[in-house]
Amino acid sequence: MPQHTLPRPICGHCDGFPTVAITTGQTTPDGRRHTITADCPACHGTGHTLPTTRTPARIGA
Ligand SMILES: [Zn+2]
Repeated sequence: MPQHTLPRPICGHCDGFPTVAITTGQTTPDGRRHTITADCPACHGTGHTLPTTRTPARIGA
């Protein structure tokens, strides 16, 4: 029986782009633009909204 990835709704907070790079305006010593990454606070970087059903917490894999 083939396994299918369960369709999960795209996070409406980040529209499916949970991690973004933000340019700080500074450059690193090697000349590249210094960027920081930020995860979507709503979906915690998953890009999907959490299922409505309660699931056991899986923190700290
Ligand atoms: Zn999100």
